[in-house]
Amino acid sequence: MERVHNFNAGPAVLPEEVLREAQADLFNYKGMGLSVMEMSHRSKEYQAIIDETRAAVKRIYNLGDDYDVLFLQGGASMQFLMVPMSFVPEGKTPNIVHTGTWSKKAIAEIKKLGLPVHLAASSEEKSFSYIPKTHQLSDNPAYLHITTNNTIYGTEWHHDPEVDPAVPLIADMSSNFMSKPIDVNKYSMIYAGAQKNVGPAGCAVVIIKKDFLATAKEGLPSMLDYNVHAKAGSMYNTPPTFTIYMIGLVLKWIEDMGGLEKLAVNNQVKAKYIYDAIDNSHGFYKGTVVPEDRSLMNITFRMPTEELEALFISEAKKAGMIGLKGHRSVGGCRASTYNSLPLPAAHALAEFMQDFVKKHG
Ligand SMILES: *Cc1c(COP(=O)(O)O)cnc(C)c1O
Repeated sequence: MERVHNFNAGPAVLPEEVLREAQADLFNYKGMGLSVMEMSHRSKEYQAIIDETRAAVKRIYNLGDDYDVLFLQGGASMQFLMVPMSFVPEGKTPNIVHTGTWSKKAIAEIKKLGLPVHLAASSEEKSFSYIPKTHQLSDNPAYLHITTNNTIYGTEWHHDPEVDPAVPLIADMSSNFMSKPIDVNKYSMIYAGAQKNVGPAGCAVVIIKKDFLATAKEGLPSMLDYNVHAKAGSMYNTPPTFTIYMIGLVLKWIEDMGGLEKLAVNNQVKAKYIYDAIDNSHGFYKGTVVPEDRSLMNITFRMPTEELEALFISEAKKAGMIGLKGHRSVGGCRASTYNSLPLPAAHALAEFMQDFVKKHG
């Protein structure tokens, strides 16, 4: 059977080359007579896999020795909790730029810990249809937290934010992780659930500045303590071994195809196919966000009626394109065009959109 064009928001499409390599390795990894799933995480072969995956994160983002890379369980959602638990000293306030569903969840976790929270900026008053261009910090900010791509609302920061360098910048990059070059040195911490851009579900990749890590609160329960995980090389307990192996294959694919610069170009081309189909539809498709903040990863749009949207989704499925339904909280349509989505898939969707307008516009 042919593979579908997969526009799922996450878990999402993986590169075909990666799936084939995993398939070839699955039964008998490098002549060991077992799969990675069946291997001891304490074996030297597995150690080599996790070490290489960590090294690839560092190479791809060009990280210096001042950064550590962790692989943690609980997804990005666990980071919503671990960050404020660790990095809010007495008398300081977490500052959040509120840009949608995910920052709302991050805020909720802070409140559950009984900590104060300051909204440094918010786009809620306009249904999260833009990225705030300025922010106002509180007194004694613990850190500033942003969501660099809003998976559900379809907005993205196209520039690293300008922030007071004395205030640690923390980014939830789950849905645009490794999709373009960034000025990584601006960030004290970056985290991302793997299942959008770099692998299957089950693991968050955390990039953290060592001097920031050193400020983490001590004495937390072990599984919630960044330093416990860092000291153990992300193997304090059994890590999600197969997911980390798969991330390693995706990162090798990224390096082989030309790294972040090349991915960024591809991602722009893919998004342009689809945004052009929206913009050239004489208002049949309506983008949901201001053009300058449009996401290159999650393209959200509406049609004149919900009936047409339902028809679009079902006809697209018949044409081999899946995952185009908007998030259940906002409706409409959404095409996720992550790193691993091949260019022809985005092109096919754009053509399908043009044909659909001709028939139903
Ligand atoms: C998907 C997503 C999350 C949640 O990730 P989990 O790994 O499911 O916890 C958080 N933030 C953003 C921006 C996301 O896209």
